[in-house]
Amino acid sequence: MTQADDKPARTATPQVTLREVVEARERIASVARRTPVIHSSALSDRAGTAVYLKLENLQETGSFKVRGAANRMWQLTAGEKKRGVITVSTGNHGRAVAWVAGRLGIPAVVCMSERVPTSKQQAIRATGAEVVVHGQSYDEAERHSFRLARERGLVRIEGFDDPLVIAGQGTIGLELLEDLPGVDTAIVPLSGGGLIAGIALALRSAGRPVRVIGVSQDRAPVMVESLHAGRPIELPEEETLADALAGGIGLENRHTFRLVRELVDETILVAEQEIAAGIVFAFEEHRLVVEGGGAVGIAALLHGRVSGLGREVAVVISGGNIASPLLDALVGRASSG
Ligand SMILES: *Cc1c(COP(=O)(O)O)cnc(C)c1O
Repeated sequence: MTQADDKPARTATPQVTLREVVEARERIASVARRTPVIHSSALSDRAGTAVYLKLENLQETGSFKVRGAANRMWQLTAGEKKRGVITVSTGNHGRAVAWVAGRLGIPAVVCMSERVPTSKQQAIRATGAEVVVHGQSYDEAERHSFRLARERGLVRIEGFDDPLVIAGQGTIGLELLEDLPGVDTAIVPLSGGGLIAGIALALRSAGRPVRVIGVSQDRAPVMVESLHAGRPIELPEEETLADALAGGIGLENRHTFRLVRELVDETILVAEQEIAAGIVFAFEEHRLVVEGGGAVGIAALLHGRVSGLGREVAVVISGGNIASPLLDALVGRASSG
């Protein structure tokens, strides 16, 4: 590897602004799908205003996370692209990293503990990524990933706290403004905050205020509790139907905590049975397969949790990766009584 090889394609961006989101748009175009926006008559009737759904459950790999992963990986140096990337996520982020790496011809390592089910290991292997199984817990797998990254010169791809990842997710906001020029409210699932921060930045280009509302599960909503505390905090993880929203924001959070505090107008928490109702509603009314984390916006609207709704409401459906037996059980339970 020569030195020129390793020179960054562009100077690193310490802060993320609308400009980075606009730049991300073209970069990810060959990898990420431009997802449809549909009008939901059923939800509009329930909410008493026009409600639209942005369908990131139809995104490649079944969640929006390919956008951020693609924008981050485009900007690896030639040397970094050759050596490869690493992640510890076996969820939507890990899937997205493995898939984008495959598309861009970048070697990817997904590190996971022995407790991750073999079916999940297989699914990630099938994308062409190298699966490294190590240790008995997420933390052990993560420590091993740091070691591997050092030894092999691999770049860690963060799930949310990275300006390029945030900018990639923000491209959803640009698409929303094109498809719904009159949008005045955006309801967005919230966990680490990369998704909502990027979208809120993009919506600033509307040139008028658009209200941005974050929705989290009420079981260990780390970002929401951190906002209340005024600093990033940790909470013990809890089981939730919205598994894509579980997990922390990092005590050393560098970007998303500040951005969410600045750009998000309010946050709402939804309960497990409300999330279940959101999943079932998406299936029954639209024949859409939506996972728990993707259904929290529908859940909030269905249960009248958002007050003073605007005239054109966009709900981001962030993902569709729900196990078929779980979907089956929820829909079956709802229809039997
Ligand atoms: C990752 C994820 C989220 C949350 O995104 P953050 O950037 O962490 O806030 C929401 N929904 C789904 C389906 C996800 O995979």
